[in-house]
Amino acid sequence: MTAPHPETWLRVTPEGLFCEPGRFFIDPPRAVSHAVVTHGHSDHARPDHGAVLATPETLAIMRARLGEGRAGAVQQELRYGEAVTVGEVRVTLRPAGHVLGSAQVVMEWRGSRAVVSGDYKRRRDPTCAPFEPVPCDVFVTEATFGLPVFVHPPAEQEVAKLLRSLALFPERTHVIGAYALGKAQRLIALLREGGWDRPIHLHGALAPLCRLYEERGIRLGELKPATVKDRASLAGAIVLAPPSAIADRWARRLNDPVPCYASGWMRVRQRAKQRGVELPMVISDHADWPELLATCAEVQAQEVWITHGREDALIHALAQRGQRGRALHLVGREEEEMEADFAEAAAG
Ligand SMILES: [Zn+2]
Ligand SMILES: [Zn+2]
Repeated sequence: MTAPHPETWLRVTPEGLFCEPGRFFIDPPRAVSHAVVTHGHSDHARPDHGAVLATPETLAIMRARLGEGRAGAVQQELRYGEAVTVGEVRVTLRPAGHVLGSAQVVMEWRGSRAVVSGDYKRRRDPTCAPFEPVPCDVFVTEATFGLPVFVHPPAEQEVAKLLRSLALFPERTHVIGAYALGKAQRLIALLREGGWDRPIHLHGALAPLCRLYEERGIRLGELKPATVKDRASLAGAIVLAPPSAIADRWARRLNDPVPCYASGWMRVRQRAKQRGVELPMVISDHADWPELLATCAEVQAQEVWITHGREDALIHALAQRGQRGRALHLVGREEEEMEADFAEAAAG
């Protein structure tokens, strides 16, 4: 008997990507009875599911962000590499290298294997486990940066840019916009590696997840609240804040602030300008174009399904390499590195 094609058992429904023989959804945008969640970003981890299967880190992040009562009535932890049978499907989670706890969902049914990557990156990140390629029949990928123009520079180089600016303007407060989950902690870790051993100051919105990372053994060094009252003591300091805060009244009360922003979107000059960013840092937690192509090749999938992002160029490039691409047009996926930052901040 030949193995069934994943399109016969993994379907796009209005509630999201549904694994039929397992009776569960993956990162469903609305509350469902059974969900497998790849990671804690708000466009993947929604509140009020009946049961949630995820890594222990993702469940902890969901509890911290959504509140104890809304992170799934039943929470089932699955560690990287452990297998569980859900319905008729064998499910394992493998690191996605995106943020702490982020996982790819590996599903096997009757000899057929599909992998849903969630969001992922291939660059080194001292705050989470590195992406592990898993050979499969169908690879479900994101394509946030699915255009050849998106080639991320080394993150260390972007951090060096910031450190140079701090040396050049020792009195000015550098206020860096960074997404609260993942980006902020990675940036802090990179700054420590780059030799910045002074305290790093945090806008209140970033403190809880930094604490959670530290509780999980990710060392971030000395962190202090950024209180505008002591603006004098913040001269020459690094302040991390949600991206929406870097150009608002709060930031303007700091000492001659330099608005900085760490995001893959900073590759697009106009976006930096629009946000009043003086020092753009191109640091992304998503795969860039070469990494998307390399990953699709590495997993040796005959088919690549694309959840969201820029799919046309990727489908074309894959076809030239003998892989069939398919756009899923999943709804409810934000491009969290930019738009969702602002949406989320606006929503509180
Ligand atoms: Zn994400
Ligand atoms: Zn996402």
